[in-house]
Amino acid sequence: MRLISSIEAVRRETLLMALEHKQVGFVPTMGSLHDGHGSLIERAVKDNHFVIASIFVNPLQFGDGEDLDSYPRSIEKDKQIAEKAGVDVLFVPEVEAMYPSEIATKVVVSKLSQLWEGASREGHFDGVATVVTKLFAIVGPCTAYFGEKDFQQLQIIRQMVVDLNLPVEVVGAPTVREADGLAMSSRNVYLSPEERLAAPILRVALDEGLNLVRRGERDALVVMALMKKIVESEPLAVLDYVAAVNAKSLEIPEILHAEIRLLAAAYIGKTRLLDNDGLTLTE
Ligand code: AMP
Repeated sequence: MRLISSIEAVRRETLLMALEHKQVGFVPTMGSLHDGHGSLIERAVKDNHFVIASIFVNPLQFGDGEDLDSYPRSIEKDKQIAEKAGVDVLFVPEVEAMYPSEIATKVVVSKLSQLWEGASREGHFDGVATVVTKLFAIVGPCTAYFGEKDFQQLQIIRQMVVDLNLPVEVVGAPTVREADGLAMSSRNVYLSPEERLAAPILRVALDEGLNLVRRGERDALVVMALMKKIVESEPLAVLDYVAAVNAKSLEIPEILHAEIRLLAAAYIGKTRLLDNDGLTLTE
């Protein structure tokens, strides 16, 4: 595995691959790698001749008062994990290389970016869409792998790729969880032992919400009320939102049908956690 920090050097690598008709897989991350990232890398290694993973904690997607400065960073461990997982190039650009001057161009995916996470974190998805567009412009034609863990982000990137005709195939991969159901996240290290025990409440709320739908409930608001009650039953949790939505539009439908997604976000102590799960209704 080669560690590359220069944008030009990554371009040279992918140009060579294109000339040799080799398929490039790309896994963008913010580092502090865990098995969730690992599953994306494994998939990319399986599907492609050449795999690039990136580590970039993107200042543009953090709001004022968010954890940009304290975001967990573990580059030495990340290098080992990436190498073991079969990454060919680990692209770790400096902030100055990605944003040499104040950025005047932003990518805004309207509608989808305003909902849920976007409503709680103003400008967050503009930052995500902009940096992912930049990374796609650097890497070039590729298959890019994103986790369903950040389901809204995945749908926004799919929309962006279609809207802008980007030469990228987007693949979504299932959420990897701890044994007790907590979705793996770099931010889980912020949790105190007591908070860690409380954290799977989001998973419980999603499971019970899905069970209610499986038993025949089709009123999104009823499902949301149950999920809210469950999250609020945990004394250490402060609910941000729960939602039962159409998986494409991310809007709450009159009647749940076809592909649905349940979303949940809550603070456990100071740590903001999010999770989601879904199912497809056939009747
Ligand atoms: P991050 O480093 O948190 O920005 O995440 C980088 C990529 O890994 C994104 O596509 C995430 O959705 C994905 N990811 C993060 N956590 C998980 C997880 N527990 N399971 C699967 N994918 C994940």
